[in-house]
Amino acid sequence: MMISQLETMIAVPCDLCRSPTHEALFIKEGFRHVRCLNCGMVFVSPRLAAHREIQRQSGTGAMGDDELTPAQRRRLRRELKLYEPFRKQNRLLEVGAGRGWFLEEAAQKGWETWGLEINSCALHYLRKRRSIHLVVEAAEDFAAPPGSMDAVRMWDVIEHLQSPRAALGRVYTALRPGGLVHISTTNFASLSRWVNGPEWVYLNGSDHIHLFEPSTITALLRHSGFHLVRVRTRSFNLRKKLYHPERELPSSWSPLRPLRKIIDETIRFTCYGHQMIVTAVKSGD
Ligand SMILES: [Zn+2]
Repeated sequence: MMISQLETMIAVPCDLCRSPTHEALFIKEGFRHVRCLNCGMVFVSPRLAAHREIQRQSGTGAMGDDELTPAQRRRLRRELKLYEPFRKQNRLLEVGAGRGWFLEEAAQKGWETWGLEINSCALHYLRKRRSIHLVVEAAEDFAAPPGSMDAVRMWDVIEHLQSPRAALGRVYTALRPGGLVHISTTNFASLSRWVNGPEWVYLNGSDHIHLFEPSTITALLRHSGFHLVRVRTRSFNLRKKLYHPERELPSSWSPLRPLRKIIDETIRFTCYGHQMIVTAVKSGD
């Protein structure tokens, strides 16, 4: 692909409600961030026409740790306990499996594990993990047998997708009635975004093209047919360094810096943490 093709931009309507009308919030690194005037969804428009191709070749899906610390493994094992009450067919799918750390832990607990991934670097790691049934398809396009999965995990993935709505439709079909979806994404309505403004660490218009808030992720899940939607948030950070080292921005003084630790420990009791963790259940168990 030519560089000029990679830079072609296309205007898009709101993925959540299809409305074409939105207001511009700010422009960062050439990417216009907008809010839908109908439903409040925040997204990037216009966005790179080659967005998915970039996700395949050089997206950040495979970035992360080379090795997990014992504490990180304990955290994954704790998370797995959440899936236990939903284990009936013993099948677990991760959309955006990355390096496969989570699915590896799940396999050790006896789950039949399925991983969906398109990023070539992530696939390089996943192909070495014999325990994972690997599916190389985009989240918006995959077609698992209906009702085949007990649970689906989407960890820091939905903000990268061209159509979160299409992907959740696929997830809903793949889940059995009563199955669980477990999502992590950044919170545009967080205190750290409010303090940092457009410099907020997670605003990266070539990569993060859908910025959810508790209200919009809830609306999307309900629209997709899920119920028992539960949104929690956690963490407060003042970092401006994104995981692309070349994108590191100068740090600036914030009046909240001395209080950072206290806020970090208490923000999980509010809806203003920068990470949203969402669970929802497919109706009809
Ligand atoms: Zn909308």
